[in-house]
Amino acid sequence: MLFSELGLSEAIVRAITEHGYTTPTPIQAQAIPAVLAGGDLLAGAQTGTGKTAGFTLPLLHRLATAASMPTGSGSQRPIRALILTPTRELAAQVEESVRVYGKYLPLTSAVIFGGVGINPQIKLLKHGVDILVCTPGRLLDHMQQGTVNLTHVEILILDEADRMLDMGFIRDIKKILAVLPKKRQNLLFSATFSDDIKALADNLLDSPAMIEV
Ligand code: AMP
Repeated sequence: MLFSELGLSEAIVRAITEHGYTTPTPIQAQAIPAVLAGGDLLAGAQTGTGKTAGFTLPLLHRLATAASMPTGSGSQRPIRALILTPTRELAAQVEESVRVYGKYLPLTSAVIFGGVGINPQIKLLKHGVDILVCTPGRLLDHMQQGTVNLTHVEILILDEADRMLDMGFIRDIKKILAVLPKKRQNLLFSATFSDDIKALADNLLDSPAMIEV
């Protein structure tokens, strides 16, 4: 199996080939076609399986090929994909992957987390980003300050959802979900499946494809 056989665009295959990947990992081989098909996804995957590329690669493809792709900048460029992660470290890693894999695409990204000044983040958001990676608490701060607009989100990804619930983010997540457009694609990645995760998945996902590695 090759990345080029999974339906990803040439610009993405070129970036991952340059990055040194030759073969998709099992989670990538399953998740990439499922996400490209446009439906919701429930994925059971631990860190180290290649899950990050499993969702960032098809996400980039979908955003780059969507008919609605805006060409403007600044406020004309709405956030189209929202990735929530439990920690700053993970948020930074995921955004770095988005940058590396998307280097030949005209898409922009930003990472936002707590524990650092909010003003530089406000500037970034004003500038306009296609893909926003963030921790739930700081995103909620921006929502409350009116410095982020989530009304054009087409794809939502919850990464390490079990850790986000363990860290007590469920209320923040619910507040974030409440402001997103109803029509969107949802991906939920989790290493474990407690009753709380199952309830969240039931609530969030519409007839999801299910994969486990
Ligand atoms: P993750 O589970 O997403 O944190 O990825 C684990 C590690 O595997 C990271 O260091 C990735 O750079 C690496 N990786 C992901 N996909 C591949 C691949 N298809 N081939 C080789 N390495 C990969």
